[in-house]
Amino acid sequence: MGDTGEDTGEDTVASTLITGISELVTNDPHASDLLGAVVDAALVVDGDRVAWTGPAHLAPAADTAVDVGGRAVLPGWVDSHSHLVFAGDRAAEFEARMTGTPYAAGGIRTTVAATRAATDEQLTAHVAALVGEMRRQGTTTVEIKSGYGLTVRDEARSLAVARQFTEETTFLGAHVVPADTDPGAYVDLVTGPMLEAAAPHARWIDVFCEEGAFDAGQARAVLAAGAAVGLRGRLHANQLTYGPGVRLAAELGLVAVDHCTYLADADVATLADSGTVATLLPGVEFSTRQPYPDARRLLDAGVRVAIASDCNPGSSFTSSIPFCVALAVREMGMTPAEAVHAATSGGAAALDRADVGRLVPGARADLLVLDAPSHRHLAYRPGVPLVTSTWLGGRPTGALVGPS
Ligand SMILES: [Zn+2]
Repeated sequence: MGDTGEDTGEDTVASTLITGISELVTNDPHASDLLGAVVDAALVVDGDRVAWTGPAHLAPAADTAVDVGGRAVLPGWVDSHSHLVFAGDRAAEFEARMTGTPYAAGGIRTTVAATRAATDEQLTAHVAALVGEMRRQGTTTVEIKSGYGLTVRDEARSLAVARQFTEETTFLGAHVVPADTDPGAYVDLVTGPMLEAAAPHARWIDVFCEEGAFDAGQARAVLAAGAAVGLRGRLHANQLTYGPGVRLAAELGLVAVDHCTYLADADVATLADSGTVATLLPGVEFSTRQPYPDARRLLDAGVRVAIASDCNPGSSFTSSIPFCVALAVREMGMTPAEAVHAATSGGAAALDRADVGRLVPGARADLLVLDAPSHRHLAYRPGVPLVTSTWLGGRPTGALVGPS
C-alpha cells in the first residue's frame, strides 16, 4: 500500500507545510529520545517525501499549508505481518475458543477450503476492504502473505492478488500441510512447482515452524529453496510451544522471526546477538487466550522488537495497530514510546525498509494524524478511533484533516 503507484499523479510535486503539530514523532535514530519527538512542530512534504521537520517557529515556506489543529503526527504504521488473502470467517471457532476450546494450527484448513472456492475478484475485494480498514487506522505499509491456497494455482493467485496492494508479499505455502497430504510430498511441492509459480509475485518466503505445522528441517529446506530463487526468508516460530524456530532464524540471519511467545533464555540471547527482529503479535494472544510474549525481557536483552497485527481469520482477526499498541503497553511491559516505535521503526526493520517508519528528510511522507496531543493516548484511550487521517506518499487519504 505505501509503495504502490499512488504517488505518480502530477499533483504531488507541490510542497506542503503541515503546522499545528502538538507532538511530531520522527523516529530520528540520531535523536536523544527513542521517538525523536518534537513538540510544537512542523513538517514539510515535497512530492511523496518528507523535506523538513522541526520546531514550528523555524519552518520554511511551502506552496500550501495544512493546520492539523494541535494534534500529534506519527509515522504511518508499518504492519510487517498479515494474512489478508482469504475467504470465509471463523467467528464460531472464536466463540468456542472463548468458552474453552484451545487454539490449534489445524484450524487453518477451514479457511483454505473457503479460499480455494473464492474467485480472484472476491479475494481482491476482500483484501481491498481489509486494507481500507488498515488505512483508516493509520497503517501505510503492510506485508501480506499467501498461505490459504496450498495448491500451485491457489498460492500463485493469492500472491498476485496481494501484489495489487503492496510490494511486501510473502509466499507462505508452508503454512500447514493440507488434509490428506503426505508431509514430505507436500514440502517437495512447496519447494518445487509451487515456489516456481509463486516467486514472480513474492519478495519473501515464510514457514510456520511449529508443532502441527513444519519442523526445523522442513523449514530449513523451504527457506533454502526460496533463497535459491531470490526470496528472502522470515519465520513463524515459538508461538504455541518452545521450539527450534527462533534459533534457526538467527542462524540463517533472517531479518525477522515472528511470534516469539515461548522463548528460552538461550533464544533471547541468540536474538540479541543476531540482530534478527522479534515481531510480536499481541492480537494473537488476545484472541487465543495464550500468554503474551514478554516484550520487556526482549527489550532489556537488547533485542530489536516489532509489533504487527497478524491479521487473519483464525487467530487474530484485527486490522488495528492502535489496538496492538494498547495491548503491548498493557500486557507486554512496553512503554507507550516503545510500542509506537516497534509498530513503526520496528516494522520497517522487520521488512528491511529504510524509507518508511520514520519522518525524517528523504523518508516517504507516510504519516498519521491522531485526534490527541500525544502518542501516549493510543494506549491511554484504548479502542477509541483516534486516527483522524492517514497520509500516503505526501497526500491524505480517508477522513479530512482540520481543526475540531
Ligand atoms: Zn501469521
